[in-house]
Amino acid sequence: MDNTTTKINILEFLPDELGSVMEELGEKKFRATQVFGWLSKGISSFDEMNNVPKSLRDKLDNAYYIGQPEAAAVQRSTDGTVKCLFRFRDGAEIESVFMKYSYGNSICISSQVGCRMGCSFCASTMDGLERGLSGGEMLGQVLAMRALTGEDIGHVVVMGMGEPFDNYEGLLKFIKLINDRKGYDLGLRNITVSTCGILPGIRQFAEDAPQVNLAVSLHAPNQTLRERTMPVAKKYGYDELMQTCREYTETTGRRITFEYALIDGVNDSAECAEELASRLKGWLTHVNLIPLNEVSGRDYKTAAGANIKRFRDVLERHGVAVTVRRTLGSDIDAACGQLRRNRQDNQGTEINK
Ligand code: SAH
Repeated sequence: MDNTTTKINILEFLPDELGSVMEELGEKKFRATQVFGWLSKGISSFDEMNNVPKSLRDKLDNAYYIGQPEAAAVQRSTDGTVKCLFRFRDGAEIESVFMKYSYGNSICISSQVGCRMGCSFCASTMDGLERGLSGGEMLGQVLAMRALTGEDIGHVVVMGMGEPFDNYEGLLKFIKLINDRKGYDLGLRNITVSTCGILPGIRQFAEDAPQVNLAVSLHAPNQTLRERTMPVAKKYGYDELMQTCREYTETTGRRITFEYALIDGVNDSAECAEELASRLKGWLTHVNLIPLNEVSGRDYKTAAGANIKRFRDVLERHGVAVTVRRTLGSDIDAACGQLRRNRQDNQGTEINK
């Protein structure tokens, strides 16, 4: 019988869980550690596990598959950025981006296929939510990207397609999988999760993963403006968001990064900067100003260079820590969700700029 469709992704299992798998297969539990180690190395076939008996490799191959997604399209930028459209077994497509920074290599992974948050400047949400990604599928992106680039990856940001706190269970499982000592062993402080501001998620995350870095997409200095571009603001208002973030910094002792995409004529005025500064003055935050990535089909334009500089200067003058994000991959479709959309309009082309 062809059991390809009923096979289970073996990347979903933590060592303890793999231990139970081994017992079910009539194998010794210690094999779980070996198998988990091999999977984290990024093997694509069970036969690569050369210290595991052939009989066990066959049993695994019969019931499980190694769920690294396949590269459906790849774009390479001259600055070393690699953007990949990954496809999972069921055909779901998401994007991941590999970036080189002075502190090391980083990957931006997706947490959902599509998104239902509806931010009006974002490409990922234009077709709504297809489904969430499992922890193993998030790990699969890291392993597949490492194989594709041949480079080590020491930082993971969950800032690709999707809202991580709309898929909390998958997110936490991913963190456990990639942090496990027996496997990829990525430090919690080398992981950053970005949310559009789902408050119960922020509160829970402060308890479950206080060492993981948290970024909050703010994009506005007040409720009125935020509501205009981010529907989530209607559910969780600005004051409550600020209060929750403040509590987060107090209970965890960790600062929060606020992301602020500068959109021409929408949120990039000096008044907006003053108002934001008055909100953030004196607490443990960092503002990351992002020149908007223009998305085809959306009217928004990126802020002018002079306005970006003015915005930064105002925040600095008030003592608010601020950086302007370096634009990587600007020669490829850097805004997340664009590659997937372009590809859907243009099936079958291998994009390799
Ligand atoms: N849903 C999460 C994470 C994914 S988006 C969140 O909202 O934080 C990652 C970041 O990119 C967010 O700050 C998001 O608001 C921002 N973003 C989305 N579209 C953008 C665009 N066109 N230009 C610049 N930043 C964008």
